[in-house]
Amino acid sequence: MKCSHYRSKNIMPTLPRNSKVILESMGIPFIEEGKNVKRGNVCIHCPYCGSLDPSFHLGINIKNGRWSCWRNASHRGKDLAGLISKVCHIPYKTAHGIVWSGLRDRKGFKEQLQDILDKMTQEEKPKPIPWPKQFVPIMEKDRFWEYMRTRGYNTKALRWVLKNYPIYKANTGNYKDRVIFPIYDLSGNLTGWVGRAIGASKRRYMMEKWGNYGVLFRNRIAYGGRALVICEGPFDSLRVDYLGRNLGIHSTALFSTNIKPSLIRALRLLSNRYDTMVVLLDKGEETNSIKVALEVGAKVIPLRTVKDPALLGSLDSVLPFIDQ
Ligand SMILES: [Zn+2]
Repeated sequence: MKCSHYRSKNIMPTLPRNSKVILESMGIPFIEEGKNVKRGNVCIHCPYCGSLDPSFHLGINIKNGRWSCWRNASHRGKDLAGLISKVCHIPYKTAHGIVWSGLRDRKGFKEQLQDILDKMTQEEKPKPIPWPKQFVPIMEKDRFWEYMRTRGYNTKALRWVLKNYPIYKANTGNYKDRVIFPIYDLSGNLTGWVGRAIGASKRRYMMEKWGNYGVLFRNRIAYGGRALVICEGPFDSLRVDYLGRNLGIHSTALFSTNIKPSLIRALRLLSNRYDTMVVLLDKGEETNSIKVALEVGAKVIPLRTVKDPALLGSLDSVLPFIDQ
């Protein structure tokens, strides 16, 4: 799709200058200085190279909006909205609105951008799902309580966990005999859930599609802090978040090593609220860790001491990487 606005000489030099504001507001990491950064350019991780670009190889000329990749000459173009759409995982129409919103009133660009982003979140808000009645709280000493204890929580810890995390059980229905982790969007609407079997089962995890912006432990992670740690499964995240409860460290989960665009966007928005964002997947998942880290602009922490984060006894081996 082509952008006709560039044909007008009057506005051509002004609008691409907002690129930095756009990238900042969308939580996309970029650099302005460095070996490969031309003057007047901002550089981002090339979305067309994907995981092949370990760094910031795509330069955007903030005078004329043209962009090109240092790694692959075919990754280039004039359509800034097209690039923003690809990088931010948003519809072209929305990206176009964002790029050209400075058209009417250049001074109020930030405010206009915020309006568009707010509206976008509203439009894409999934329809609220009613709370399934069969999901009820875990009671002390019931079989779900006993299962949680086998995951490394003693009575005191478990009382704290069940008070501070939305974790439920199902005695009936499709999710019978599973511990339930509800998923909420960033505004706090229920968008789905994940159930972990407490006994032998062909499917250890079952999940309900949770729509856009759904994140695990939204009630804990929405407030920001020192670090947001991205793990693979809910028990990994629970462990890290619990161990980091007095350290400003929070955690959320991917549920799969194949990260969805809506989750990428949610994590990027959340990253603005943290000093740092890191990926901590199971041992042996280094390649996937790097892939996820590049998508969301996070650092990778290698897991050396245990097989998966759910087995960590403390964050001692993780902290040096967080503060690096
Ligand atoms: Zn490229």
